[in-house]
Amino acid sequence: MSGAERSVREQHDVTDLVAALLTRAVASRATDVHFEPTDDRLWVRVRVDGLLIDFEEVPLALAPNIVARLKVLSSLLTYRTDIPQEGSLQWPVLHPAGGEKAAGGEKGAGGDKEARGEKGAGGAAPSADHVWDLRVATFPTIRGERAVVRIFRERTSPQSLVELGFTEVQDRLMRSAVEQPAGLIVVCGPAGSGKTTTLYALMHDLRERFPQRSLITLEDPVEQRIDRVTQIQINPYGELNYERCLRSLLRQDPQVLLVGEIRDGRTADIVVQAALTGHLILTTLHGEDPATAIVRFLEMGIPAYQLASTLSLVCAQRLVRTVCRSCAPAARRGCRDCLGTGYRGRTALAQVCPIHEELRSLILHSPSASALRAALHGLGLSMTALGKAAVQRGTTTEDELRRVLGAEAAD
Ligand SMILES: [Zn+2]
Repeated sequence: MSGAERSVREQHDVTDLVAALLTRAVASRATDVHFEPTDDRLWVRVRVDGLLIDFEEVPLALAPNIVARLKVLSSLLTYRTDIPQEGSLQWPVLHPAGGEKAAGGEKGAGGDKEARGEKGAGGAAPSADHVWDLRVATFPTIRGERAVVRIFRERTSPQSLVELGFTEVQDRLMRSAVEQPAGLIVVCGPAGSGKTTTLYALMHDLRERFPQRSLITLEDPVEQRIDRVTQIQINPYGELNYERCLRSLLRQDPQVLLVGEIRDGRTADIVVQAALTGHLILTTLHGEDPATAIVRFLEMGIPAYQLASTLSLVCAQRLVRTVCRSCAPAARRGCRDCLGTGYRGRTALAQVCPIHEELRSLILHSPSASALRAALHGLGLSMTALGKAAVQRGTTTEDELRRVLGAEAAD
């Protein structure tokens, strides 16, 4: 074989390999695929149910070609290996319903040709039922470039709050909060705790029950497309940032605004002003519990009287992995269905706190987080109590509870 023939052959191999890896990752319900060069190999790991799992090891010699292939697919500059780059591509999926049955799982299936056809022609992929958005981000390291592919899976049917893990009572509280014409609904929790998914469920509910209201979302990034809702992709470091967008958007006559995240005092201020002037705002905040979220607003400079008159509900949540039904009856956990982890899927544990009169007057006095926590104690079920109940039902395990709630779960 000549050198040229060999290089053509290798190119084909890498093309197939990348297609197979992405197809398998999608089929495994992965949300992210990491391509990490180490000293002796390219390590491929996938994030499933929030945790990274070893997926594949590839000879290090192929690493540059694999990253280059990902760059080609996502229209990035292959010759620039010295700067971080971000791009996107559309990936064909054979059976999008539910996510589990997605794609063929075998080498080449639903792979490269369709992906290119979709991107190039701009039409529907020939043999795939559906395409999913994939984002590719590369980063130069001392061992070569690493890449992360984020998979945005499209849901065919929206999930209700109860399907997400909320109790019937919590579902009613949340849904009655969005019935109000104005107010501020805040979902808090650490990164990856399902806050956005909860807001999406509320937006779907709003769209169904109040089709006459105008719904707009500001997101970074847009994770799910919702029919008949205006969705805007924020660029936090560019012109179209949250603050700028919000100011202009209020002139677009919105009634309900989903603001992806409140990260600073200026955004918090506009959001509160919007709620004060008769808009319903749904947003998320990084914070462990409702008390912390309330105090963060005050610390960001929101006057207590404004927060007290706008805040209508605060929800804190976590996601715990649920026990794999395929291997749970066996003594030893872990099977093919759950990639050997013993878990498959996740469910939410949530504290839902509607802001009633008593809390309102407490907020007026700019309380400390501990004073608020004491007042909120006993209002809703504690995260630990909800978690323990889930363990008793066999939904999740003590280990998982400890992993997600930490010391909280011990008491
Ligand atoms: Zn299993």
